[in-house]
Amino acid sequence: MLTWKDVIRFSVKGSPKPDRRVEKTEAEWREILTPEQFKITRKKGTEMAHSGALCSAHDAGKYNCVCCNTPLFDATIKFESGTGWPSFTQPIKENAIKYEKDTAFGMVRVEVMCNTCDGHLGHVFPDGPNPTGLRYCINSEAMQLQKESSSEKIEKRNR
Ligand SMILES: [Zn+2]
Repeated sequence: MLTWKDVIRFSVKGSPKPDRRVEKTEAEWREILTPEQFKITRKKGTEMAHSGALCSAHDAGKYNCVCCNTPLFDATIKFESGTGWPSFTQPIKENAIKYEKDTAFGMVRVEVMCNTCDGHLGHVFPDGPNPTGLRYCINSEAMQLQKESSSEKIEKRNR
């Protein structure tokens, strides 16, 4: 389980190596993303609070990177933060997320990106719920929800 200490260490010393890398030119990203997705993921934009479609999603499944489809978060670790952005307490895997210190707007924050394609996702804060204390605050537009199929659901229930 990751804690704020790990997040700081990754942002200073570098994040764990991803399983694979996806690299594309700006023109190639523009072709596969909507203008809003492009602005957020490739230009480090932020959507308006409460505007994202995934903010109030409660379906079981995985939240994948909208750019490269790598799973980033599981729906079971999503929580209602009241901030207006989808919020999570842990990434799906330790090496799914890339961390970087962000000093924009006169604040020191930790930016979180997709570790596979460097797509901007949002920020992580140390004010999340127990036991991790982490709050990954992520733009809806940066992710797509891959809903769990009904057969997977049944399998889980029978486990
Ligand atoms: Zn990605």
